Amino acid sequence: MAGYVGEDGRRVLDAQAAVLRTGEVKSVDIKYMRGDGLICDLVVTNKATTNAKGKVIGFHGTIQDISERKRAEEQLEKLAYHDPLTGLANRALFHRELNDVLAQKRKKTDAALLLLDLDRFKEVNDSLGHGAGDELLGRVAHRISRALGNRHFLSRLGGDEFAMILKDHASVAEVESLAAQVVAAIADPISLSSGEVTVGASIGIALIPKDGTEASDLLRHADLALYQAKEQGRGRAVFFESTMSTVVQHKIALARDLRQAVQQNSGLEVHYQPQADLALGTVAGFEALLRWNHPVRGNVPPGEFIPIAESSQLICDLGLWILRESAQQAKRWLDAGEPREVAVNVSAAQIWHSDFIGDVMRVLDETELPPHLLCLELTESLMADHAVGRVRKVLTELKQLGVTLALDDFGTDYSSLGYLTQLPFDKLKIDRIFVDGIADTARARKLLEGIIALGRGLGMTIVAEGAEKPAEVEILRALRCDQVQGFVYARPMVASDAIAFARAQDRIAAVAASPVIQAKAAVA
Ligand code: C2E
Ligand code: MG
Ligand code: MG
Repeated sequence: MAGYVGEDGRRVLDAQAAVLRTGEVKSVDIKYMRGDGLICDLVVTNKATTNAKGKVIGFHGTIQDISERKRAEEQLEKLAYHDPLTGLANRALFHRELNDVLAQKRKKTDAALLLLDLDRFKEVNDSLGHGAGDELLGRVAHRISRALGNRHFLSRLGGDEFAMILKDHASVAEVESLAAQVVAAIADPISLSSGEVTVGASIGIALIPKDGTEASDLLRHADLALYQAKEQGRGRAVFFESTMSTVVQHKIALARDLRQAVQQNSGLEVHYQPQADLALGTVAGFEALLRWNHPVRGNVPPGEFIPIAESSQLICDLGLWILRESAQQAKRWLDAGEPREVAVNVSAAQIWHSDFIGDVMRVLDETELPPHLLCLELTESLMADHAVGRVRKVLTELKQLGVTLALDDFGTDYSSLGYLTQLPFDKLKIDRIFVDGIADTARARKLLEGIIALGRGLGMTIVAEGAEKPAEVEILRALRCDQVQGFVYARPMVASDAIAFARAQDRIAAVAASPVIQAKAAVA
């Protein structure tokens, strides 16, 4: 049935009454349902009709169909304010919405800003292609909207970043529970046309007005909380706390500088720490340890920057960099007549979030380093969250390349002994904490003896880390430990010093092992 839509009939009458009262021209945009059921946009313009004395005696007007123009405007609005991929509001609309919320100076304007970032988006994008990445974003957008309901505002800021504004919420607990629901909704496997993927999401939350009344403060604070969520292991929602600012900002700045160092290949250097063979007295190989000389802060210890790199994809680039550098170095030594094994530390993220096996193959191929001269040091964190079968499969594939596998920092983490027996490690690196104190307490010695016996029983080469005193070396020798890596022999050094040390050490060992010397020793 033809007629005005909603209150539009009243608005026309009001405008006409105003024309009669004031004599001014009035235009109103209205919606009108035509006889065929289509709704069109009209503009009704009324002008006063006056008599010869200028007195208003009525009105006349025009009605113009502006449906086309309105449609174009709506289209433009959609383009300007919506993300074409997901159909969600875009960054521009998000800013408008956030400012609107902040501008509402009602007494109780409690609200919350949530920033969400997908945890393994890059992985899907890189391995399955951009088409799958786009499809995934669409699915994720749908899941978030469903979990959030339509009471709240959701937008995609770009890439795999989404922002939510929860308005008029009842309590912090409600924000927390909604955030947890969103995280849970994304954690379930998502099926794409190219297969099933599992991603996760991390969320940072800033409360309005508690954590800020300006858009820029709120965004910064939600971002800091998001960073914390990622650092705490992803797949979680974290509220902003004022103490985060300094600590996290420092880390964010370091992460940015480290990324630059990797990209520009500046300030990074590999140091090599010798590993002594206890039986022969020679240098069996070296561990490659990363050193970063920051342009302003000077040397930043790996204990500080490795975890920062690990909380982002940066560790994969950094890990590949040191792998390539160390392999090139080992090949240069080999070419100079010194076949020395180089051990490179590998983070769990490299294994799970990059094409690590492919990287090792490429590096071996490029450098022409015989694989037996490359050792990969993995820690027990590799086994966190992964079934033993999956870990074994990856390790077996690596071993098939001919490289040596070492389990690093043994005893500091998850260490299920049952686990250990099922994995194809060649070397066991016993952490410093088990070497510390063996010269002083029988208990410490007993523990170390047990670990060495266990490793030997599994056919592994045993390397003790962190021996600092000659007395410790003697005990390790007595316990039939194979190798020692510690300050008692040498600290990590630049490549030229490391190889010079090894040559000198090998010469001493050769002299000590010569029949003449041994005979002399026997006589004495
Ligand atoms: P890690 O792999 O267990 O390396 C051995 C660490 O023990 C090195 O510390 C080494 O300098 C130190 N160390 C060796 N002997 C002694 C000793 O007698 N006494 C003491 N107090 N320390 C000793 P660094 O170089 O500071 O590295 C710390 C950790 O950072 C490494 O532990 C490793 O987990 C990580 N890291 C270093 N470079 C890399 C890298 O390129 N990639 C990855 N993913 N992690 C790395
Ligand atoms: Mg190591
Ligand atoms: Mg270690």
